[in-house]
Amino acid sequence: MDFSISADDQSRLQTLRRLGRDEMRPAGWRADRAGAPLPVDDPFFVRMLAEGFGRTRWRAAGATPDGTDAPAPNKAGSAVAQVLLAEEGAYWDRGIGVALPGPGLGEPPILSMGTPEQKQRFLSPFVNPQRPIWGAFAMTEPSGGSDVANIKTRARRDGDHWVLDGAKSFSGNSGRAEWTVVFATIDPALGRAGHRAFVVERGTPGFGDFRIEKKMGLKAYESTSFFLSGCRVPAANLLGGEAYYEQRSGGFKGAMNTFNAGRPAIAGMAVGIGRAALDEAAAFMQAQGLASDLRLRDRLERSRRKLKAALLMALRAAWLADRRQPNMLEASASKALAPPAAFEATSFAMEVLGLAGGRGDHLIEKLFRDVKALDIVEGTGQIQRVVMARHLVGLPN
Ligand SMILES: Cc1cc2nc3c(=O)[nH]c(=O)nc-3n(C[C@H](O)[C@H](O)[C@H](O)COP(=O)(O)OP(=O)(O)OC[C@H]3O[C@@H](n4cnc5c(N)ncnc54)[C@H](O)[C@@H]3O)c2cc1C
Repeated sequence: MDFSISADDQSRLQTLRRLGRDEMRPAGWRADRAGAPLPVDDPFFVRMLAEGFGRTRWRAAGATPDGTDAPAPNKAGSAVAQVLLAEEGAYWDRGIGVALPGPGLGEPPILSMGTPEQKQRFLSPFVNPQRPIWGAFAMTEPSGGSDVANIKTRARRDGDHWVLDGAKSFSGNSGRAEWTVVFATIDPALGRAGHRAFVVERGTPGFGDFRIEKKMGLKAYESTSFFLSGCRVPAANLLGGEAYYEQRSGGFKGAMNTFNAGRPAIAGMAVGIGRAALDEAAAFMQAQGLASDLRLRDRLERSRRKLKAALLMALRAAWLADRRQPNMLEASASKALAPPAAFEATSFAMEVLGLAGGRGDHLIEKLFRDVKALDIVEGTGQIQRVVMARHLVGLPN
């Protein structure tokens, strides 16, 4: 197995390292101290746009692979590079990574399910955006996010529209997004086959009551809950069109594709936070004359080893994805392994720093609060274990 990455991806990694240190960590810290997401008009977003962030990986048919746009340093050329970039970005600030403009989690379902016309409509504004704009993804509902197959938001056809009714929770950037990919069901009795995905555009009547949730960490970006009340969405916004769902078992597969592509990257992010915590702990140990303590050194090394093992699993999952080989088990394993390893790293660092960490004005305390979400998003640790155990005994996922 070869985890090397292209020269372009190496250079993206270097750019990210520079921006992480100079821009992302200070911006994430600023949002954390303010206890609120960075506002839409924060100059940080404009600066990051100028650095090539906020762009889609989609290109119109016939365009050259990299188009004529400025390079997009945040878009990896391979899944392996994506994990390494995710790790590096989260090392500096994971919340900022999600706060950055761009189509976000809404992009993968549009890429995998959308018609050419829909890709053109919804992704072309992100090819070379002149101002910071966002896309979003909304699956989770107030009744629970793990049982994805059992979503309750209803979709009913009415002439040349669909009418959506329901509620969604914790959707990243929905309140500021140009559009949100919303999953709904035409009939709960149909299970996964009843799922449909809609691109709901900002300002659509009945799409509103946005509430930015309070979070313990990752405060740099907004996690938004909202309602769909008689929300009329044009039939043309049904992702993939009717034909897509006649051929496949509903929108669920599109959602799960999104998740499977994301899990190794989320694992990488957890490792990045853990690495940042261990660097803080090691620096503190050196500064305070604790480096000679054998027990602390031993715990530092053990924690680092677990992070490395988790990263290797994520890279293996990504390596398989790059070769279009099934990677469901490895993707779930990496997502199950990395957040607990990172949690252990941040806990250890908190303990080493003692009062200095617990006071609430040190980076380590922020990392300790930030890391928990990585065990929750895109399928909790328990759900990953459920998926792997079902697979072991030959049950369908
Ligand atoms: C910071 C953050 C950002 C998020 N961003 C988004 C977003 O952009 N878009 C979006 O749609 N959602 C988003 N989410 C929601 C996230 O996907 C859900 O929180 C997650 O899927 C878990 O759902 P839940 O919190 O409702 O927990 P529940 O599903 O209610 O589960 C509660 C607990 O029960 C456990 N559990 C549930 N079922 C089982 C089972 N069968 N076996 C064993 N244990 C089980 C779970 O592991 C969990 O510990 C975000 C969440 C957070 C915290």
